[in-house]
Amino acid sequence: MTQLPVLNFSSEATGTTRDGRRASLPPRHLADLDLAGRRAAVAELGEQAFRAGQVSAHYFGRLIRDPAEMTDLPARSRAAITDALLPQLLHPVSELATDNGTTRKTLWRLHDGALVESVLMGYPDRVTVCVSSQAGCGMACPFCATGQAGLTRNLSTAEIVDQVVWFAGQAARGALPGCPDRLSRVVFMGMGEPLANYNRVIAAVRRLTEPAPEGLGLSQRHITVSTVGLVPGIRRLTEEGLSVTLALSLHAPDDDLRDTLVPVNQRWKVAEVLDAAFEYAARTGRRVSIEYAMIRDVNDHPWRADLLGRLLSGRLAHVNLIPLNPTPGSKWDASPKPVEREFVRRLRAAGVATTVRDTRGREIDGACGQLAASSGGTVGEREDGLLARRANEETQ
Ligand code: SAH
Repeated sequence: MTQLPVLNFSSEATGTTRDGRRASLPPRHLADLDLAGRRAAVAELGEQAFRAGQVSAHYFGRLIRDPAEMTDLPARSRAAITDALLPQLLHPVSELATDNGTTRKTLWRLHDGALVESVLMGYPDRVTVCVSSQAGCGMACPFCATGQAGLTRNLSTAEIVDQVVWFAGQAARGALPGCPDRLSRVVFMGMGEPLANYNRVIAAVRRLTEPAPEGLGLSQRHITVSTVGLVPGIRRLTEEGLSVTLALSLHAPDDDLRDTLVPVNQRWKVAEVLDAAFEYAARTGRRVSIEYAMIRDVNDHPWRADLLGRLLSGRLAHVNLIPLNPTPGSKWDASPKPVEREFVRRLRAAGVATTVRDTRGREIDGACGQLAASSGGTVGEREDGLLARRANEETQ
């Protein structure tokens, strides 16, 4: 039997650094607070509390963060208010773009030197951002680049929200040619396991969906939270009364294989995690998305398609197949197209809606499972924060 990693699945703590020190949270930011908290923070400075609403409207409503542009704040207190509520949390290290500039990946350095990535994807009808919820990840899925380096720490609420607000600002300023200028969707499919940073992720979802000036005003239905299958987290999410989409990274319909591909399966088995996901779907009326990376000769057998079809038939679920993005040095590869087509055919024959995900951002290591900033070397680091674009992208 293969050696299985030992995991701490339930850590709600901020996390510890790899050398065992306690990770430090970033400075407080308005996105960590509700409006009442922001008003209190402004009042502490000796300023009038309603200034909190003004700053919030700039940040969430107008997508600006430069104090010089906040001309409705008195010039003498602008710096004090923005220092207290809008510290810079994300420092861009590099940005890579591909697909004629409609896919962009940014590597950020956080206040303590931790690195995370986010990816912006523009389509003719929508703009989606893929955000990280943790620096690194503790779930140890062997095919995922992020999983290889382990967990550095949880992100704060504002560190999550600010990834979205930053890109919303880029989109509003016309950064994505041929795409809407309004960012409309958020997927928690970047680095990290969202349900292992539960409280901060839920607070971020609330901030992203409350209308301005409280939040960014996105639709809950346009937010997808993706999980390896932390059953207590799924059950808690079911009770939140949110209507976000749940994605479950299943990757195998049988426990023997899933125990190795998604090690958390050693704790919560396929039947149990599917039960929790179906319960979420029943409660919210939202179809659950079953994520399945197609790995050649590992999980792509016709019998596994049939077994998956039986597990999902008649349920409020659809399957999203992801051609595996091989990580550097991995022994695994994506399934051949004919094998993928047969897998799709069998699932559909069982009455299960099935799609194959497009692999946006592959060339810039921005596709699913390729985010591995903390291991270094995947992106050319630039200290000056300027764009480090691929030379060929402008010529396409
Ligand atoms: N921890 C969460 C979210 C992050 S990963 C989760 O596991 O759901 C987002 C999706 O990308 C997951 O379905 C994950 O299993 C998948 N993924 C990870 N590595 C991949 C790879 N190398 N190729 C294709 N998909 C991958």
